[in-house]
Amino acid sequence: MNLVRFIYASRFCDKKFDSQELAKINKTSQLNNKESEITGALVFGEDYFLQCLEGSREAVNKTFQRILLDPRHESILIMGMTDIVSREFSEWEMKYIFLTEKNSQAIREFSTSAQFNPFCMPYNRVLELLKALSK
Ligand code: FAD
Repeated sequence: MNLVRFIYASRFCDKKFDSQELAKINKTSQLNNKESEITGALVFGEDYFLQCLEGSREAVNKTFQRILLDPRHESILIMGMTDIVSREFSEWEMKYIFLTEKNSQAIREFSTSAQFNPFCMPYNRVLELLKALSK
């Protein structure tokens, strides 16, 4: 299997996004990702989504093509895709991470600013941030 890690960021589409939508995305992702053997993490914070998908190149591409067309977010920015030997988020079909006071230290440590803005961060920093937030 060609195992890859893919990371992108996007912005909430305010009018179409609330906690019910979040619950729906969660449910759909758990089901679909289990089926396609995808693991990863999804961060919600400020106005942004930051998501890491790990799995076969084919499965990650298929999943991202659906995500790309989803009207619940916009300004999708691909941050990078790398071949990997092992998964970083192997325990989760999709680990959901909300930004709170508790994990704001990681934001300060890995971001260029105190505010969460993945659009301003390089791929490696974003990956380190995701690892720190998922602990
Ligand atoms: P359904 O869930 O039945 O959806 C059918 C179609 O309707 C899709 O095109 C969907 O985009 C659209 N749709 C569904 N609900 C709404 C709504 N409330 N408003 C507008 N359009 C809607 N999916 C995954 O499988 N894995 C992931 O890891 C994943 N991560 C996501 C992360 C983010 C930030 C977002 C916004 C979405 C994510 N999704 C993920 C959902 C993905 O975009 C698709 O909606 C989903 O994969 C389609 O699943 P489905 O084929 O079972 O169809």
